[in-house]
Amino acid sequence: MADKRDYYEVLGVDREATKKDIKKAYRKLAMEYHPDVSDDPGAAEKFKEISEAYAVLSDEEKRGTYDQFGHAGMGGFSQEDIFNNINFEDIFRGFGFGGSGGGGFETIFDLFGFGGGRRNGPQRGADVVYDLRITLEEAATGIERDIEVPHKQICPRCQGSRAEPGTDSHTCEACGGSGQVRHVQNTPLGQFASVRPCSTCRGEGTIIDSPCHECHGKGIVKQKTTINIKIPPGVENGSRLRVSGQGDVGKRGGPPGDLYVMIAVKHHHLFEREGANLYYEKPISFVQATLGDKVEIPTLDGAVDLKIPAGTQTGTSFRVKGEGMPHLRWNGKGNLYVKVKIVTPKRISPKQRELLEKFANISGDEIYTEEKGFFDKVKDAITH
Ligand SMILES: [Zn+2]
Ligand SMILES: [Zn+2]
Repeated sequence: MADKRDYYEVLGVDREATKKDIKKAYRKLAMEYHPDVSDDPGAAEKFKEISEAYAVLSDEEKRGTYDQFGHAGMGGFSQEDIFNNINFEDIFRGFGFGGSGGGGFETIFDLFGFGGGRRNGPQRGADVVYDLRITLEEAATGIERDIEVPHKQICPRCQGSRAEPGTDSHTCEACGGSGQVRHVQNTPLGQFASVRPCSTCRGEGTIIDSPCHECHGKGIVKQKTTINIKIPPGVENGSRLRVSGQGDVGKRGGPPGDLYVMIAVKHHHLFEREGANLYYEKPISFVQATLGDKVEIPTLDGAVDLKIPAGTQTGTSFRVKGEGMPHLRWNGKGNLYVKVKIVTPKRISPKQRELLEKFANISGDEIYTEEKGFFDKVKDAITH
């Protein structure tokens, strides 16, 4: 899954592309890589790749899921789910693929393994995505947590047989037990046939006389399982934790899918985070900045003292070594950067005013205070 290319990149469109843009881009590429016309030996794979990208991005729900979770989020959709979206007749209308008999479609259906016996083989279970929100403090220390994951499991009542315990099942007459039927469709390009799952038995090949009460004859139930997960210290927002084999159960003996825990680290009310470093803004008075001071600043492990040297300018950053987040991949921690912001007092007492005026006077600054009216100030400015 990690090697899969980004769907937008595959189609060569940007993330804001409209449905129309996406269709146009797909159509162009599909014409180029259609296995019936392309000489490129990799055309079939390429065609599959672009078709999958198109099938997902042309469907609002699937596109939304993909935008949010990437390929990991697509695990909940089966291949049939994805490709059934594409209306190939619509895409290839006006382009005489397959010449006489619409063979282009046959090639496509073969390509995607619709029917062709694969339907009845083992099928890997879908991946399951679980969202977990943790605090910055939890991300710093790492946590161990039990999560309740809803995923599809073999029905405990019928053990996956789909039949109510003690009842019989028999071979499907509509498909003779193969689970598939041949489907002939008339299109503007001619008649073509494809193999589809049997609708009578839903591709299972057997008919259950009395479906299991628990799973309603599906053999699979959605249930919650408690899974213990360990999140390492230093985990980043958007990290993905893979728990192998804890997705949906496989079909017909196929392996289970995986569980992906998507970790969101909540915004902290004091700290901003960038990688392993934390950032904090400390308001100080101009007196503290001028004379220097020792101030208390918070860290994730409690308050520490920070020395503000005399003559500190607003916006100056101080590094508090090792008070950031732990590094995820190696030992040690990032730093905490404290940026001081000099706050100008909004209200001062008459005594403070008097002292500040004296201060200005000694400094040689001429100050126009509020006591003078606006016109006086203007007059002063003109006569000087
Ligand atoms: Zn059951
Ligand atoms: Zn059948």
